[in-house]
Amino acid sequence: MVIRDARIEECASCDREFDLNFPARMQRYQKLHRREQMHFWPCAFLTRKYYPIGFFADLYDTPWESTPRRVFFHSDECEEAYTRSGSFDYIDCDGCRRTVCEQNPANGWHVQFRDHVDLGYICLRCYEKEILGNGQPRSDFEGSRIRGGMFFSSGNSEPRQNGFDEVSGFTDYFVDGAERARHYNEHALELINKGQKIITAYERLAIGGLEGYITMLSKMGDRPKKDPALSEAQPRAAGRRKHAG
Ligand SMILES: [Zn+2]
Ligand SMILES: [Zn+2]
Repeated sequence: MVIRDARIEECASCDREFDLNFPARMQRYQKLHRREQMHFWPCAFLTRKYYPIGFFADLYDTPWESTPRRVFFHSDECEEAYTRSGSFDYIDCDGCRRTVCEQNPANGWHVQFRDHVDLGYICLRCYEKEILGNGQPRSDFEGSRIRGGMFFSSGNSEPRQNGFDEVSGFTDYFVDGAERARHYNEHALELINKGQKIITAYERLAIGGLEGYITMLSKMGDRPKKDPALSEAQPRAAGRRKHAG
């Protein structure tokens, strides 16, 4: 038997086939039945409630995809099992609101989200857009750990195209612990205090990101910071240079 308005989908989690249109069709049949039959006794068919079974989710396996992968689930439990498996969870980005896999399915230790102090837990696409515009938040560099940053295309072309330059002495910088990280962070803070924007580009990182090579990129900010101690240093120096030339 072929049901004309059936919409058979396969549950992405348990592979069971189910009819996405089943509840809607049954409700339509109830309506017809109510109209055509004159019941003088309670009809079990009419009193039965048909709840939606099955639904879909639009998932992004990486933040860089322009179209999502639509998958169907026949129950809440199946969705839970599929999207919250523990190792490859799908998470809603606080920035773009898309549901993105937290780790790259093709490269498991490649985390595709970053915690941003102002924007929340955001996918790498949102994160890249933010730091290419504003640099990383100052708080990333307060401490003796490497925080934030990401892999760019080879030669760090995305930051370079956005006006960032490599900071001498901090390209392919080796980090293997708190001491090297602190040295890196102190220099970043110094530049931020002078009004620069700072980005950390990953070059090669070991699994877990505890050891590897990173590059610091900087760009002069558009405006001096409001902090009076900072506004003294930077814009006046620029002004003087202009008059001298
Ligand atoms: Zn299922
Ligand atoms: Zn996002």
